[in-house]
Order: sequence, then C-alpha cells, then structure tokens
Amino acid sequence: MARLHTVLLLLSLLLLLVEPSVGLPAQSAALKRSKKRKKGTVEARLLNESHPGGGTGGAVDFVQLATKRYLDNDELTEWLHSYEKRCKSIAKLTSIGKSTLDKPIWVLEISDKPGQAEAEPSVKYVGGVHGDEPTGRVLTLALAEWLCANHKSDPRAKRIVSSMHLWLLPAMNPDGFTKKSRGNSANVDLNRNFPDRFEDMAVSGKEEPETVAIMDWTLKTGFVAGASMHEGALVANYPWDGTADSTTRYEACPDDATFKHLASLYATTHRRMALPDNLEFPDGGTTNGASWYPIYGSMQDWSYVVGHCLELTLELSPNKWPEEAGLGKLWEDNKDALLAFPLTAAYGGVWGSVRAEGKMRGAKGAELAPLGNATITVEGISTVTASRDKFGDYYRPLAPGRYMVVVSKDGYKPFSVNLTVPADGSGAQRHFVLAREDSSSSSDVAFNLRSLEPSSSSDDSGTVLPWKAGRKGGSAVIEPGSTVSAASRSRDRSLMLGAGAVVVYGLWVTHRRLSPRSLMRRR
Ligand SMILES: [Zn+2]
Repeated sequence: MARLHTVLLLLSLLLLLVEPSVGLPAQSAALKRSKKRKKGTVEARLLNESHPGGGTGGAVDFVQLATKRYLDNDELTEWLHSYEKRCKSIAKLTSIGKSTLDKPIWVLEISDKPGQAEAEPSVKYVGGVHGDEPTGRVLTLALAEWLCANHKSDPRAKRIVSSMHLWLLPAMNPDGFTKKSRGNSANVDLNRNFPDRFEDMAVSGKEEPETVAIMDWTLKTGFVAGASMHEGALVANYPWDGTADSTTRYEACPDDATFKHLASLYATTHRRMALPDNLEFPDGGTTNGASWYPIYGSMQDWSYVVGHCLELTLELSPNKWPEEAGLGKLWEDNKDALLAFPLTAAYGGVWGSVRAEGKMRGAKGAELAPLGNATITVEGISTVTASRDKFGDYYRPLAPGRYMVVVSKDGYKPFSVNLTVPADGSGAQRHFVLAREDSSSSSDVAFNLRSLEPSSSSDDSGTVLPWKAGRKGGSAVIEPGSTVSAASRSRDRSLMLGAGAVVVYGLWVTHRRLSPRSLMRRR
C-alpha cells in the first residue's frame, strides 16, 4: 500500500514538472486579473486616488482616508483585516454571522485587552442596518482609526480603550448596500424584523440571518448601551418605538429619563443636531420613537427589553446616501458625540461591583468574592440591572438625579443606599458588599473606596481582584444593613412587558397589514 502511494506521488510530481499549469488554469488567470485590479492594500489604493502618482510625503492620516469615499463590501473586509493588523494592541476582528448572500458581518472589538473578559462594560455601535443608509460604515471605521491614532494621547480615546470594550459593527446589511436598497437581499427591513414587545418578544422564526446574528451577539456579549446609525433625518431617537394601538404619541419606557438624557447628550455633543435650524427636530434634536412614527420589530426596543442594553437609533444625515465629498465633515460633526456617548452611558450613572462579605477562601489579605447575578434596582424604575457573573461588576446608566438603589441576591441580606448621580456626567461609583442571610456577624464591614478602585495589577484570571477591604473612611463609604423598600425589590426581569401588551397584539397586526406609511421611512 505504501509503495502504491509513493508511485502515485512521484507520478503527480512528474506531471507538474512537465506541465506546470495543469492544475487550475482558469483560476490562476482570474487571480492574476484580480491582483492587477486590486494592487496593494485598499488603503494604498485610496491614498493613490487622493494623491495620484505620489505619496503624501508624511504619515498616513487613516481617519481622512476612511472618510474619503464609501468602500464596497470586499474593500471593507480588506480594510478591517488590515486595521486589525495595524492596531492589533487595541483591536480584534470577528465575524458574528453571515448575510443572506453569505457576506460576513464584521465586528471590531476595541479595548486594551480585545478578546479577553474583563471587569469592564461593553458598548456597541451598529452601522448599515438599512442598505441605502451607508454613513454607519464610514463613521465606525473613522472612529476605529481615530481611536487607534489617539489612544495614547487623547484622554477620551485613552479612557475608552482602557476602561471598556467598544464594539463597532460597520455593516449589518451588506447585501442591501450592494443593491442600494433598504432591505436585505430578501427585501426585508431589518429594523422591523426583531421580536417585538407586543408579541411578547417571542422569536417567530421569521428573523433574517442578519437579525439572528445581531441577537446572538447582543445576548452573548451583554451590552450596557449602544446605538445604530441611520440617515433620513438629524435626530437621536429612543424607545419606545411603538404604541399598543398604533397611534402616534409619546410612549415612555421605564428608563425614559435616562434615555432622554443619553439622546440629548448625543444631540448636544453633535455639532449640528441640537441647533434650532434642525427644522424637523428644533427642540434639541431628540425624539421618542413612537411620537415620531410608531414602528414594530425595531432593533432598539428588542435590545432594551431582551438585551438590557440602552440603545438609541441615530439619524445622522437628512439625506440618505450623502455625497462622498461631505463624509469628512460628517465625521467631524459626529466625532465628539461618538466619543461621549459610550463613556457617559457606561460610567455616567451608577457603577461598581458587588461582593460577598467575608474573606475569599485561600485569599491573601481581605479579598472579597465577586458576586454575580445580584440585582441592582433603582426605586421607581421597573427595569433591573444584574452584576456580571465572573467579576461582580455592574453598570447602571442613569440620568443625573437622586436615587435609592437596592442591591439584592438570594441568600444575602438586601442592601439599599441613597445616592446622587452628578450632573457633570462623572457618575457615581459604588461597591456593594452583601452579608449572607444566615450571617450572625454585625455586618460592620466598611470600605475605603479608594482602595476599592481596580488597580493596574488586577488579576487577569478574573476570579479575585486584589481589592482590599479597609477601615471605614471617607464620605463614599457604604455600610450594610440599611432598610430596604419592599416595593423596589422585584427580581422580575420581564417587568418591562406591560400587562396590556399581549391583549392588543391582534389589533396591532391588523393595523400593520392595512395601513402602509406615506411618511418616508428613515429609522
Ligand atoms: Zn434607517
């Protein structure tokens, strides 16, 4: 048998020597053509388009290059791979799924430890939901390039890279982009394709591959906040997107104040969105979705209810498919807002960690075990936030104001505290230590907040951070044993689904089928 293999191998080698192109002549010709057409990297080609026949003579400005023109899907793929190589210390590229026509849906994860679990929040930007609205492809790429170029010098870039994982998805709907059409290749509007709260968030099986990819990724990653990018207006839109009876009116969600705050932050940090000459939205450049025009099956409502992610829908240009000559200005208009939103959403409310009283077994010093799945409830708001499994960290976006926050977990004594979220966006950092229910100790554990700050020597294995319980001191000390309001101790995460939602479901379906919208569809 072995001899037969050797003979066959020698025969094939001989054949190749006699006729080198016997393999795949057609393919090698195609390869040659494609190499001729696509000489060098996509960045080099773009550079050549801007400076024909010669270089810039200096360092390449990748942000400027990324806002030069729209990249087709292959160019975008090429650029993202090249970016990952150029900026590998802060970026990891993954495909979260494929479009109907088998194009990868790429996501760039930006962090100082991309691909690693950390006690840090995740925030996402999603571009290209609608194929005929391409600004998100440009802005996510420009943002990635800007962060790569500035994360050692600019304090905002530094903070984003070092204190969170920012996920940038340039094109949710690559097939629609190719056709310059709103829907995907099956002509489905992806921002109407998510499970809806008026259908009890049930997965219908009619979700398109692009939608499923986003759903899986969102649930797997666990985002604190996010935004999708659209065109057709200049406004920051927030939940709810729909009303039970399909009438157009303001429909407040449980986190209405926080959403208003975040939408307003984006609009006012944007160079033009909140100006009075924004004629369609002269009152600050924000809108509640349902008060603009109700829609159903939107990504933002799904993300909020199922993903516990506070998500906005950003309309970034009154024109769909803006002229390429204006893309640089589009980036400049959005830059500060794109940087401010993730930081304020993740760190502008209440955030910190939940730990269990008592020393970790085997720990040196007074290290405390992280407590995952503890619920952080804010009195008066029916949605809850959970501390994360591995690290016990939590991020609760909140508008500035005074709140009573309750932390609870089965088997532990619940704990409450009154605190103020400052108006300057700096947030309220609070670490909680819960005493076991059967604990007979007087629970006089107190913490010096400064010593609870995550240090640079944080344990990468993620089991215990070297945070030390110190003596009581400073004004930020939180003491266990405060009284807890029973009303706000709900652990029911489905509270967000209004009681009347399912009842009106039939009515809504009828409406959606019978009344096509005359209004131009934007989001
Ligand atoms: Zn849109």
